[in-house]
Parts: sequence; C-alpha cells; structure tokens
Amino acid sequence: MKIKNLSQVLEGQPKYRYAQINKFLFQDYISDWSEASSLPKKLREELSLECPLEIRADILKVPGDKKTNKALIYLEDGASVETVLIRQKAEKGKSADYQEEIDLKDKRAFRNTICISSQIGCALGCSFCATGENGFLRNLNSAEIVEQIVFWQRFLKKENKQEKVDNVVFMGMGEPFLNYPEFIKAVKFINNPETLNIGARRLSVSTAGITEGIKKIAGEKLQINLAVSLHATTDSLRQKLMPIAKKYSLADIFKAVDDYIKKTGRRVMFEYLMIKGVNDSQKDAENLILLMKRPLYLLNLIPYNPTGRFQPSSRETIDNFKSTLERAGVAVTVRLSFGSEISAACGQLKKNMFK
Ligand code: SAH
Ligand code: SF4
Repeated sequence: MKIKNLSQVLEGQPKYRYAQINKFLFQDYISDWSEASSLPKKLREELSLECPLEIRADILKVPGDKKTNKALIYLEDGASVETVLIRQKAEKGKSADYQEEIDLKDKRAFRNTICISSQIGCALGCSFCATGENGFLRNLNSAEIVEQIVFWQRFLKKENKQEKVDNVVFMGMGEPFLNYPEFIKAVKFINNPETLNIGARRLSVSTAGITEGIKKIAGEKLQINLAVSLHATTDSLRQKLMPIAKKYSLADIFKAVDDYIKKTGRRVMFEYLMIKGVNDSQKDAENLILLMKRPLYLLNLIPYNPTGRFQPSSRETIDNFKSTLERAGVAVTVRLSFGSEISAACGQLKKNMFK
C-alpha cells in the first residue's frame, strides 16, 4: 500500500475528500480504488496509478490450527515484516490476559488479537528470543506499522463481514520504545476516530525496560496498556538473559513504572518467561512476591516457546509457581501461548529474516 502521494493527487480537490478517503481506507478497508464508488471515476483512476492499495504478503495457515495465522508482509524496499493474528473463541466475561476490556454487548464468535512489529529484527539480542538472535535491520515507519493492521482488517473482512481486529499488541518483532517517534505516530493514527478508530485501551505495548520510553508514554494522554518484560528477579540473571539489563537496572525500571502508575493510575503488566532451571525455582517465586506485591502490578507468566537455547518449564512447575504467588496475594495470570507450531508465537518471529 503506497499512499505517500495522496496529498499530491488530492490537490485541488474539495477538503471533504480526505474524510471520504480515510473512511474507505481505514474503516471500509477497500483493497482497490474501484471499490471507492462515491469518488469521481477520473480521481479513482489517478489514485489507482499513484496510490496502489495492494499489500503484498504471504499468509501461513496451518491445517488444524484455526486460531493462529502468521503473515509476512513485503515492504517497498524488499524487506519483510512479520505479524500474527490470534483468534480466540469469545467467552462471556473472559478475556485474553493482556486485554482489559471486552464489550459484552458484542456477540461475535471471535476476539481477534493481532501482534504487530515495530522494527525489522531487534538490536537487544535477548538470549531466549528468536527475533533478537538475528540482529537488527531497521526501524519500521508509522505507515509500515499501520499497514499490518490494515492487512488483518482486510483479511477478516474477507472471511466474514462481522469480524474485525479487537486488540493490537506491540509484541512482535522489535523494541517499540527504541523506535518511539514512529511507534507513537502509529498509535495516534490507530486511535484516531477518523482513521482506524481502535480505542487506546485495546492497544498494548511491551518493552524490554527502556525507561525513557516508559517516562514518555506516561506523559502521553493515551490509555494504552503497558507491559514490561521482567523475566528475572535479580540484575545478575536478567543481565545474562537480556544484555540491555546492563543499561537499565531493576531499580531503574521499577522507579519508572512507579512514576508511570502515579501519573496515569493505570495497571502495569510484568511479563515473566518460564524457563526450566533458569528462573522457575521456589526462590525465584519468593523474590517475585517481594517485587510484585504492589497496587496495580500484574504478573503474567509466559510459557517459554523453545527457540533452541533453553527448555520450557513444565506445566506442573508453572502451576506450582503460580499458586505460590497467588497464595501470597500477587495478581498473576498465565498466558495462553498460541501458534508455536508455525513459529508465530512471541519471541519466535522471523527466525529466517535474512534468508
Ligand atoms: N521487545 C519487546 C516487545 C517484543 S517481545 C519486549 O521484549 O518486551 C514480546 C514478548 O515476547 C516479550 O515479553 C518477550 O520477552 C517475549 N518473548 C521473547 N522470546 C520469547 C520466547 N521464546 N517465548 C515466549 N515469549 C518470548
Ligand atoms: Fe528484542 Fe524483545 Fe526479543 Fe528482547 S525479547 S530481543 S527486546 S524483541
């Protein structure tokens, strides 16, 4: 999709054309200008030439797995970016662990959560993450971030006219807060009632703990959900797992999070991967209790999706770990992990990025 030339094409056109076109592109999700029936024919032809709407992508569907779809979107410069759609049967009162709000009036059969990328690759090189293993190629611009949502909206519309994207999580490839200007520009566009119109409460961003980003997002007047990748309860283990922890200590991160909570009054989710023999002992659980027993802190245990280096904790270990925390009064959930079959799960995006 290439709409850079839009303002050029619309020169001399009445002002209301922008509103009309925004609606076609970001609310009706047309994929061809011929569908924009209320525009003059000549304008449609010019738009088709100057602003092609096609999004080139490959979709990977796995027989027997109706829940998860992964797509590889090809960008203008030949690079590609991965994004995932997770479809969950909607159950009244039940929500995915990272979504806060569900509209109970809404009787559709599925909740659609999409996981989008903010960068191609990631420079932070966490040892458990397939994206990080491959290094960093470049930042995505806001249009490339938004395009991932438009892609899935078109996909869902084609499947069933009632379906739409409900939640958007920035948990794909990359560290959103190291691409802050384009990330926030995309968020505002996604949130804008005149364009994608997805409420900020339906958006979540996950950071490896970039405190500058946590400070900045606290100052935005947006109700986006914040998640912080914790994964260890001591700086020394965290540094082994996440090299960026050498720059941002746990104390720095908790200080930034507490300031964020003071300023916004919003909950913060801490993500904690469960890796066998690495961070899943009773001692780790006890340490976590001390760190997590604070108002508006939520802990989300994530079964580790194997990327080759570590083993996942067993189901039993995760259950016991969770019970220990629950008994101590910590607000804790376990993330359902979809899509590991097709390398679509978090931390497994783009193992073959440069191939
Ligand atoms: N860079 C950001 C956001 C993208 S990663 C961050 O690190 O938070 C999104 C989530 O996937 C993070 O919580 C990350 O720790 C998690 N993740 C990474 N590798 C994983 C793996 N192998 N299995 C499960 N989750 C993983
Ligand atoms: Fe980057 Fe997040 Fe993966 Fe770490 S977990 S390498 S920060 S994408």
